[in-house]
Amino acid sequence: MKRTSHISELRKIIAQERSRGRIIALIPTMGYLHQGHLALVEQAKQTGAFIVLSIFVNPLQFGPNEDYSRYPRDLERDAHLVETAGVDALFHPTAEEMYPRPLVTYVEVGELDAVLCGAKRPGHFRGVATVVSKLFHIVQPDLAFFGQKDYQQYLIIRRMVSDLNLPIEVCAVPIVREQDGLALSSRNVFLTSEQRREALILVQSLNEAESLWRAGERSARVIETRIREKIIGESRGLIDYVEVRDAQDLSEVSKIENPVLLALAVRFGSTRLIDNKVLGVEH
Ligand code: AMP
Repeated sequence: MKRTSHISELRKIIAQERSRGRIIALIPTMGYLHQGHLALVEQAKQTGAFIVLSIFVNPLQFGPNEDYSRYPRDLERDAHLVETAGVDALFHPTAEEMYPRPLVTYVEVGELDAVLCGAKRPGHFRGVATVVSKLFHIVQPDLAFFGQKDYQQYLIIRRMVSDLNLPIEVCAVPIVREQDGLALSSRNVFLTSEQRREALILVQSLNEAESLWRAGERSARVIETRIREKIIGESRGLIDYVEVRDAQDLSEVSKIENPVLLALAVRFGSTRLIDNKVLGVEH
């Protein structure tokens, strides 16, 4: 596996592979990797592409009171994991390499940013779209892989690629969960064992919502209310949001007819977890 923290060196590595006729796949991450990230690698490998995985904890997407400085990092462990998983090039730039001087140019993401995590974390998706756009220009991938764990992020990137005519196919990878159902997340390490147990309420309430929907319930408000009641009644998690929205454009839904996204964000102590489920699409 090739490994670099320099943009110029990465460009040379990629140019060489491209000249050999390889297609290029990019997997952007913030590191502290787990099986969820490795599922992205696995799906990318199936395309036969030369796989570039980036690890960059992007300061631009963290708010002033968020967990940028304490976000977990372990580059050597990550490098070993991705090498074993079959990544071809690991790109781990420093903040200085990515932002040698303050940016004056950003990617704004409009109304998709006004709801869910965008509404709760002002500037977050602008930071995400800007850094992903920079990575797209550095790597110029043919394919890029994103997890449905961050469903709003996936929609925003897909829309950015379409709006800006970027010649990149954006591929979505289903959520990878622990055996007991908790969605894998780098932030799970912050949970105490009690919070870890209580955090199962996320997947349990999503599953219950799906059962309601399968039994014929089509009111978005009824489903949201049931999820809220379950989280409040059965855990000490503090709800950031619980919402049912259109799965294509995140618009408001009252009667569920088309595929919808059930999305939630809940805090356990200082750790904020997100999870989601899409209803109405056959898997
Ligand atoms: P992160 O390092 O948290 O920024 O995540 C990097 C990529 O991995 C994003 O596209 C995430 O959506 C994806 N990802 C993170 N956790 C999971 C998971 N549990 N299942 C599937 N994809 C995931």
